[in-house]
Order: sequence, then structure tokens, then C-alpha cells
Amino acid sequence: MESRTFDLIIKDGWIIDGSGHPGFSGDVGIRGDRIELIGRGIRLPSQKVIDARGLVVAPGFIDTHSHADTIALVDPTEDSKIQQGVTTECIGNCGLSLAPLNKEHLPDLQTYVAPFLGGFHLNWNWQTMGQYLDQIKCPSRNIAALVGHGTIRITAIGPENRKPTPYEMDKMKDLISESMDQGAFGLSSGLIYPPGVFAETDELIELCKIVAKREGLYATHIRGESNTLVEAVNEAIEIGQKSGVSVQISHHKAGGKKNWGKVKETLDRVEKARTQGINIHLDVYPYTAGSTMLASILPPWMHDGGMDQALNRLKDPQVRLRIKGDIEQGIKGWENMNQFAGWEGIVIAFCKKEKELEGKSILQIANERNREPAETAFDILLEEAGKVVMVIYAMSEEDVRTVMKHPLVMIGTDGIPSSGKPHPRAYGTYPRVLGKYVREEKIFSLEEAIRKMTSLPAQKFGLKERGMIAEGMIADLVIFNPSTIEEKSTYFNPHEKPEGIEYVLIGGSIVLERTKLLNSQKGRVIRKA
Ligand SMILES: [Zn+2]
Repeated sequence: MESRTFDLIIKDGWIIDGSGHPGFSGDVGIRGDRIELIGRGIRLPSQKVIDARGLVVAPGFIDTHSHADTIALVDPTEDSKIQQGVTTECIGNCGLSLAPLNKEHLPDLQTYVAPFLGGFHLNWNWQTMGQYLDQIKCPSRNIAALVGHGTIRITAIGPENRKPTPYEMDKMKDLISESMDQGAFGLSSGLIYPPGVFAETDELIELCKIVAKREGLYATHIRGESNTLVEAVNEAIEIGQKSGVSVQISHHKAGGKKNWGKVKETLDRVEKARTQGINIHLDVYPYTAGSTMLASILPPWMHDGGMDQALNRLKDPQVRLRIKGDIEQGIKGWENMNQFAGWEGIVIAFCKKEKELEGKSILQIANERNREPAETAFDILLEEAGKVVMVIYAMSEEDVRTVMKHPLVMIGTDGIPSSGKPHPRAYGTYPRVLGKYVREEKIFSLEEAIRKMTSLPAQKFGLKERGMIAEGMIADLVIFNPSTIEEKSTYFNPHEKPEGIEYVLIGGSIVLERTKLLNSQKGRVIRKA
């Protein structure tokens, strides 16, 4: 029985299998795309041997929360995830997916997703989720997709601020069913963005029943991550309870100084929900700044009818006056970004035209232009046709640790790889957790950190053959040096590659060797079974 030849043996590594159990020293034998044998001192012949002494061998990381929907399509060789040890990436988050679409509402959808396109041009020659996924050819890492609630709402209704008619509800349900039949793992929502912000809880419950029936998951950028954080978490729990769907609260955080510490209460609520039988988890990125579209600083009424109309209104001084009033006083139920970060805490990460704005805060630009900060922000939105991404400094380090440590929390990047100065989380998330939070600060064990990056997300998404080192599993692996692993990207130099990732394997193929990229297109689109 032992007269086998392996394609690859990883020798003498410190195996951390993803389950959370203590690591152990051993060898991993790989044949084809599978892990075939785990043992000590495997002496069977092998085409290739990796000496992993002093290195950790772990399952490839699964990025539970990504916005690589565009880049996966236009640049399959893009390697920011492979460089951090990620072998599978879950796209279509925060209500934003690039499919399904229809001709009628394509312009609205294009405006909706524009800030997440990372400056790339698309040909939009697909309609269904299946057709979109078919167009992702040989990506550098595996891709699993969610269908976005915002996307299906625009496709079924348009960008209007109103309740769907019964006919439109049916249409949305059909779009979800069809997308899931074609491979989507569930539904995502972005309830601070239009049109997600227009959806009432009942609409989401009804739609999630369809997702639950197909054993998918509902990943949600909740309705508030600052003043209304607790209420927003309650809504996510209610949706899970009333629809029976598996819930994932995205990029959990408390924005704004006066809300710091609220994550203790929200985590308590999530724990309590689990005791009531609700299948709920969360994900987090390891940074105290967030990132989203600059247009999110505008109050909800501004977004009625879509971005073009919002920009048109923004030309009117009276409208600007009203927005400034709303920003100052707030509106019940609206995530007022400015209120918790201030103009100095809102920094341009990406814009299309005036590249020299990238890396500067609104306050800084306002001073340079000798103009009021709010007016400056509005000007920039107009100048850039709304296509601006910001980084927003709003969270506390202690909250980030509290959330990250919690056993129900997975790691995700929330990354949007792009030119300019995107949030460094797109490039450094996983090495940062393993370097800063495990090795330096010891907030949790290496085994626990890896569980949050591998088996936990694999279970949540139903990726049955991934996320663990075990015989018979697909050989998606990462081999890294635990004493040197480190994030190198910063807010000002986000594109720097991390250190300490020695090898990355996808389906048994080495795609990164001694930190050098070899064959960058070994991933595939994973469709929900
Ligand atoms: Zn989000």
C-alpha cells in the first residue's frame, strides 16, 4: 500500500491544521491536487521536496470578505492575495456584485459599483451570475461569490427609494435563486449604501428565506456601525431568526469615539443569539481605519434616483446647505460618517482624475484650496463624478483586538486592490494578524488565528474540501516563517508586499516559492454545490 510516489512532500514543517488544535511536527505528502498522507519521516519517493524546517504549514487562508469582483475579471494574475497566503477569496460583499444585471438598469448598476471597480474598465457582456463567473478565467486564487442585494434591487427595481411591489419582490427572489443555482454561496447586503439603505427589514427577511432554503449565507454590512451599531446588530439577528438564514456580520467595528467599546455589547448579543439557535458569525480586518466610497458622506435622500441625480443636486447651493445641516445634526437611522471621523479623519484613497488628492485628508485639501471642508468634499465628488474611495480613521485599537479575539470572528480583508492609495488591508491583512497580533501582542495563539483564517470560514461557506490539513482535502496550503511574518504595507505605501510567506500552494501546485511568484493562475471559481 505504501508503494506510492508523491508529487510533493513538505518535510519537517510545524503543521497547524486549521482546526484550532495544537500544531505538531510532521510531513505532508501531496499527489495531484490532494493531501494524501500526513505523517512523520515519510520516506516515499517524491518528484519534489520542500524542506519546511522552522516553518509553519497551514491551510491556505480564506478571505471571507473581499471586493475583488472586478480585478478577478480583468486581471486574473493579480497577486495581492497570494502574496499574503490567501488561496480562496469570497467576493460580492456589502450588497455589491457585478451580476446579475439587465439592460434596462445597467447604467444605474454601473454607477452603483463604480467606486469598487478600482479604476478598471469592464465590457459588461454578461447578464447572469453564471455568465459572470464563467468569465473569470484561471484566477491566481480560488474565487467564491455572493450575490449582492443592492445589485439585485437595482436590477429588479432601479435605484429608487421605495418599497418593492409584490411583483418586484418575486423578481428579486428569482434573481437570488437563479444566482445561487449558478454558484453563488449566498446573499450580501450593504445597508448604508443606496439602494440597500432603502430596504426595510421585512424585505431582507423575505429574501433571506430563499437563501436559507438553499443553505446559503447572508453576509451583511449592517445598517449602522457607529451610533446605531447595537440596533443594526439586532436587525441582523432578527433577519437570521425570522428567515432561518446563516448570518455573517461583515467587518465588525464601532466607528466614532463615543461608540468605542460597544462591540462588547454586540458580541454578547451575538453569543446570546447563538444560544437561541441562530447560526451567526462575524468577520473583521485588523486595522483601526475603514474604507468606503466618499459619496457615503451624503445623507440618504441625496441618493434617491442614483448617483447621476445626486451629483446634479450637488450643484445647487441650497442643496449643499441642507446637506451641511444634516451632516451637522445627523438624521435618525443614517450612518453619518463625518460625525465620527471629522474632515481630518477622511482621507482620499482613490480617485480617477486628480491623482494628487490621493493620500490627503479633506481638511488638508480644503486648506490648500482655501475652501470650507464640506464644500471641498462636495466639489471633489462632482469633479470625480462620484468615483472616489476614502479611508476613514474611526475605530479603537482595543475594539479591534476585542473583536478579533472572539471565537465567532473570522478574518477578512474587505480589500479593494487598486492603483492610488487603497487601504493597506488589501495587501497586509493576514501577515499583520500573524505578526502584530499573534507574535508581538500575543492576543491569541497561532492555532486560533489560523482557525479564524481557514476552517471557520470554510465551514461558514460550506467549502467542504478546503480549510483544513487532512488526508483527502484539496492541497491549498501556505508555508510561512512565524518569526518573520510581517505586513509591510502602510496607508501611505499600501502596495508593499508582506514578508515571511515562503510558499503558497493551490490545488497541489506551487504558486509562490521562497517569496517568488511562479505560476500565478492555478485558482478556479468555486461554485456552491
Ligand atoms: Zn462593507
